[in-house]
Amino acid sequence: MDPPLFSRDFFRPPLWHDWGEGFVRQTRCEGLPEPQWGLWNSTLAQELGLPEAPTQEASAYFSGNGPQMPWCSAYAGHQFGLWAGLLGDGRAHTLGRIPAGNQEIQLKGAGMTPYSRRGDGRAVLRSSLREYLGSEAMAGLGIPTTRALALMTSHLPVRRETRETAAVVARVAPSFLRFGHVEHLAWHGFPTELKRLLDLLMVFHYPEARHQPNPVLSVLEEVVERTAHLMAAWQSVGFCHGVMNTDNMSLLGLTLDYGPFAFLDRFDPQFIGNHSDQEGRYAYDQQPWIGAWNCAVLGSALSALIDDEKGIQVVLGRYNTLFATSLLNRFRRKLGLQQALPGDQPLVDTLLSLLHQNRADFTRFFRFLAQDAVQTEPARLEEEEEFQGPSPWTEWVRDYQERCAREEGSALARAQGMRAINPKYVLRTYLAELAIRQAQQGDFAMARNLESVLRTPCDEHPEFSSWALAPPDWAGALTLSCSS
Ligand code: AMP
Ligand code: MG
Repeated sequence: MDPPLFSRDFFRPPLWHDWGEGFVRQTRCEGLPEPQWGLWNSTLAQELGLPEAPTQEASAYFSGNGPQMPWCSAYAGHQFGLWAGLLGDGRAHTLGRIPAGNQEIQLKGAGMTPYSRRGDGRAVLRSSLREYLGSEAMAGLGIPTTRALALMTSHLPVRRETRETAAVVARVAPSFLRFGHVEHLAWHGFPTELKRLLDLLMVFHYPEARHQPNPVLSVLEEVVERTAHLMAAWQSVGFCHGVMNTDNMSLLGLTLDYGPFAFLDRFDPQFIGNHSDQEGRYAYDQQPWIGAWNCAVLGSALSALIDDEKGIQVVLGRYNTLFATSLLNRFRRKLGLQQALPGDQPLVDTLLSLLHQNRADFTRFFRFLAQDAVQTEPARLEEEEEFQGPSPWTEWVRDYQERCAREEGSALARAQGMRAINPKYVLRTYLAELAIRQAQQGDFAMARNLESVLRTPCDEHPEFSSWALAPPDWAGALTLSCSS
């Protein structure tokens, strides 16, 4: 029988809880003083067999004041291209595995850990709310991601550039294992634990790999595939992660660690979300290549276990084609095209360069193209003031029209299909900012409404249609930093 809800042993220990001091430390959370409920994700809670409404015991659990002794893990990583050595869960405590379904639950911001280094182990409300809404927005778009279950707040002051207050996000994933965990075990002399880590991945996450001639190489291959598909998914919705260090890369191909992330407003391939990233290492158009670079770092950390340098190079070498094919397929679907025909790539490339030259809003453009009226008569695009700029659409519209004519199906059916895949709503930076300002006053109404709209971002939600407009002018002045 399962232990009672939120009792001491309610969560089962994580699968790696007994791997020893080189990998894991069991420790108490400092917790939040006088915690208040910010958000409770009742949809996810129900999927996990947890109460639909927040309870008193849950409040203690999710603010780090519960009876449990959580676990923190060690990881390393490459940050901005350079080896950063030992990092670890500096402000994340793993409560354990949720009894229903094999999901881990982790608190972010519940205080110092053995890996906090010079940090305070805290997270501010601003960044916690962005993580909560960001991960739920990605889930709503059907993109692999960690999830957010709860947000707890408190009056505890936290010093960043200014004084802010502390919050805790409870996040959920099948596993929070990162490329950086492999790097730590490989380069800091833990060969036994590294083997255990690979066994864990094979047993619980990549079962097919076990039956392959070189199982670890097969795990690498699957991680490379998932990473390439994830990058294609990000690019297709204009998501910029902001800090693609190897310690923020999930071994399961999930979007992980929401910091200075942003969804594109105007289409700008060189967009940099993170204000501290002066050289644009993690700019929108760099993400796919950084994904490949990170996979190469992973490959080299696994090389002792794989013992097939040529095999590693072959697996890594597939990334570019996987990514390019996956992205082209996504853009085809965004354009309402079912078949793959020669000439599709230049059609997409020309479109993206027109969006850039005309400074068009990325999300709004595809949604506009998905209107019945535009699909029956794409030349209407040319009349639309919003998408006008220095470059005329005439030729592209003609090519698109001709391309559509080569497929079966009516323009109306195509439009309908396009509306089911091109979101009307994304978590624009300014929308998150407005929700943060309200939440800082103790009002989570906008955050709750955003959470609900972003759960089905392709639906119309007419009462919130102003959130689908291009951002107001003041949004251009907003900046995002790593400080969180
Ligand atoms: P991030 O940039 O959030 O991915 O964090 C990089 C590393 O710094 C990770 O090891 C984090 O756990 C750690 N870290 C970030 N912020 C804090 C903090 N406020 N206190 C302790 N560790 C932190
Ligand atoms: Mg991180």
